[in-house]
Amino acid sequence: MFDKVLIANRGEIALRIQRACREMGIATVAVHSTADEDAMHVRLADESVCIGPPQAAQSYLNIPALLSACEITGADAVHPGYGFLSENARFAEILIEHNITFIGPNPEHIRTMGDKIKAKETVAAAGIPVVPGSSGGVASHDEALGIAKEIGFPVLVKASAGGGGRGMKLARSAADLQGAIAAARTEARAAFGDDVVYLEKYLTKPRHIEIQVLCDGQGNCIQLGERDCSLQRRHQKVWEEAPSPALNERQRAEIGKTVARAMKKIGYLGAGTIEFLYEDGGFYFIEMNTRLQVEHPVSEMVTGVDLVQEQIRIASGGALAIKQGQVKIQGHAIECRINAENAFTFVPSPGRIVSYHPPGGLGVRVDSGVYAGYEIPPFYDSLIGKLIVSGKNRPECLMRLRRALEEFVIEGIDTTIPLFNDLCSHRDIVNGDYDIHWLETFLSERAEPGADKD
Ligand code: ADP
Repeated sequence: MFDKVLIANRGEIALRIQRACREMGIATVAVHSTADEDAMHVRLADESVCIGPPQAAQSYLNIPALLSACEITGADAVHPGYGFLSENARFAEILIEHNITFIGPNPEHIRTMGDKIKAKETVAAAGIPVVPGSSGGVASHDEALGIAKEIGFPVLVKASAGGGGRGMKLARSAADLQGAIAAARTEARAAFGDDVVYLEKYLTKPRHIEIQVLCDGQGNCIQLGERDCSLQRRHQKVWEEAPSPALNERQRAEIGKTVARAMKKIGYLGAGTIEFLYEDGGFYFIEMNTRLQVEHPVSEMVTGVDLVQEQIRIASGGALAIKQGQVKIQGHAIECRINAENAFTFVPSPGRIVSYHPPGGLGVRVDSGVYAGYEIPPFYDSLIGKLIVSGKNRPECLMRLRRALEEFVIEGIDTTIPLFNDLCSHRDIVNGDYDIHWLETFLSERAEPGADKD
């Protein structure tokens, strides 16, 4: 097992990883930018190293600075969290070259899954169903039009290097296609330096359902059921739950089995998430994330498995502590992403938190690094915490969520808590009746309080 893990991240996820390490008796090193000197992940770590100025490119993404921090502190492994360098295959390789363990999959799997075209080919060959579309990048407009007509409009033009919802454009008919391709290419070139695009059938009312897997280097691959992340704004998840209200036991077991078998076949290592769109009983792979996900706690709450500790155990060469037959999905869990943003305009709201009182009690978990007096810096993602609630079943979980949201006090900045107050009592949400477009429609019909007054 490792003696010391350096956590190449910040905020709630850095704390989450620290907690896992502490329970395993592993020392931790926090890294931070000059803007994060007062952050909780720095205060609670055994050691901390400043790695650069506020801009992420010069600190949290600065590989030479991270390597020096490993060297100075004698860390023998690095956990990248999510975002930042977590899906950077080169970073993983560089660590390996320096005899430092990257707590994550092999670099070649990160690379393959980071290229959406290759990812689709790879998983399809391993038996996972994919969204109908072009078999690779599209070159000419004529080629694209031919494929689009074959799969049928509407089609989605997607960037092979895409992520975070960028480089994705919808073409409802042949007339839109050329413009959609040009726009997707431009966006992808600017964001990822790669303008390869491909086509996919656009599903009109799917749910987003993803399967969590854990594979060790000893031939064991298990799946921990699904998460339903259909409530999205601008292709970004807002609310996640497990299990999905849309699946029955048989469907759950079948897709889980297919995924675990495929991951074993490709020799995957570590934690990963296979994302699907689900429509009319069919699953269609869209992408795989080769890292821990923001929404991993909902799986932890219904399985009792600590995903971060399993990641660490696997990376150190150990076997999974749990077998497939021991994975039992019990009860229900929901996560709300609390952002420092206005709940109506979604304008970021950095600044000082004047008072802070997180909810508590049975079945309530708050993963956050903020505290009263903390100044949220304007340089990073606006996620400041996650409220995760669990209950015996979905209705109990929703009741508890309402109660927890009422207790939650964050003053001094705007947060997205009011949005969740509205969502958890909405009839469609209570009925579990929503698809990936539901939230955008809801938001467009929801007026800001006072907006239409005089
Ligand atoms: P990114 O890596 O940019 O997040 P994904 O491929 O994971 O891109 O897709 C993000 C979201 O975009 C999905 O959760 C879904 O809401 C929507 N989406 C992606 N592919 C399709 C499709 N073929 N049809 C309809 N919606 C899609």
